[in-house]
Amino acid sequence: MKIICIGKNYHSHILEYDGIIPDEPLIFMKADSSILRKGFPFYIPEFTKNVHYEVEVVIKINKVGKHIQVEHAHRYYDEIGLGIDFTARDVQKELKNDGYPWEKSKSFDNAAFVSDFFPKEDFDLNQMNFSLKQNGEEVQKGNTKDLMVGIDELIAFVSTYFTLKKGDIIYTGTPEGVGPVAEGDILTGFLEGKEVFDVKIK
Ligand code: ZN
Repeated sequence: MKIICIGKNYHSHILEYDGIIPDEPLIFMKADSSILRKGFPFYIPEFTKNVHYEVEVVIKINKVGKHIQVEHAHRYYDEIGLGIDFTARDVQKELKNDGYPWEKSKSFDNAAFVSDFFPKEDFDLNQMNFSLKQNGEEVQKGNTKDLMVGIDELIAFVSTYFTLKKGDIIYTGTPEGVGPVAEGDILTGFLEGKEVFDVKIK
């Protein structure tokens, strides 16, 4: 199973990050060992002093596909969820400065959290609201209408490089408001105002 992540897909987050707009989707991956098991807390690893949350809509691929056309992409997923792309921002900064790959900052154990998956028909994916609360206070709020590259276009683009397989998941990027987590925090995720997960930080 692959965990494919899209970086810099909301203008508002690019502005708070480095201001540089990519001319095509920025892709990276997390290992399957980075999945945070349901019901388990997220333990801040000892190699970082600055773990950020990034709330993202997650797509679950339902069959094998390669070179998928945009107009057919909707056939390759039935379910969506809401996830957190945990990022060791200090480690990422160092790796970026040196021009090295990001994996240590993005693909460490438990760095990929995702909620249960829900039928895509339950939502209007062209304009779906999602948000994240940290200790009851809203810190991130997004709407899929603001995706710079939409879900179907992402599937087509990604499948140009990687054969998609049943069970692969795609994190579609984070809106503005990313920030650090601290021990004792509770992160709560919402799709269209309905709570879909909570994660405890330890
Ligand atoms: Zn992300």
